[in-house]
Amino acid sequence: MTIYDNARAVLERAKLASERAGHAVTVVAASKMNSAGHVREAFEAGIRAFGENRVQELEEKLAQNAYEGAAVHFIGHLQKNKVKNVVGRVDLIESVDSPELLRLIGRRAEALGIVQDVLLEVNIGRETTKSGADAGDIPALIDEAAKIPSVRVLGLMAIPPNSGDNEKTAVFFEEMRKLFVDMGAKKYDNISMCILSMGMSADFETAIAHGANLVRVGSAIFGQRDYSKK
Ligand SMILES: *Cc1c(COP(=O)(O)O)cnc(C)c1O
Repeated sequence: MTIYDNARAVLERAKLASERAGHAVTVVAASKMNSAGHVREAFEAGIRAFGENRVQELEEKLAQNAYEGAAVHFIGHLQKNKVKNVVGRVDLIESVDSPELLRLIGRRAEALGIVQDVLLEVNIGRETTKSGADAGDIPALIDEAAKIPSVRVLGLMAIPPNSGDNEKTAVFFEEMRKLFVDMGAKKYDNISMCILSMGMSADFETAIAHGANLVRVGSAIFGQRDYSKK
């Protein structure tokens, strides 16, 4: 199977899941460790959003105009000293998990005269190895964001524990859906809970069934990543 065929198949599966769930879904192709050429191939197949989790790779592919015509999301852990490299260069930063990061992004966006769209990342499985804020800290993070007009919070993102069992993962997806709905009750000018980003290659249809309207799919589109090369 080519990237083109894989991407068509993933878009079709997402479309069917979206119809079953009764809400629209955006497929973000997680293109880490894939070349600009691979990104273009997925674009040709109809993918209109890409996610990168390493700043250097993002910059390389931006310089090659890899994402032309598509949205770009930053989906990885964002180090404080890399904030300036990302703000204003991506459509959405999906992985904001601390008040400090919010403030740094806000300061950079303000200097650029823009409003940066972000999602708040939730460590829904409370895993020590993962980034993301505790679910219990999300209300405070939203209150903090409300004070920063150069940042706009559009929703939540999560990467649940990888158990390999979609029924177990679904419990976390449900917790996220509940948090997402609860947070939607907070009314601030620069906060609107409209994006719930969860679900990857192994479980994106389950995620959609549990409320995800943005899924991040890597290996099902680009094939298995070969980490031995890096
Ligand atoms: C790589 C990555 C994905 C996609 O993972 P697959 O299992 O290959 O689909 C999703 N989200 C983030 C944050 C990623 O880094």
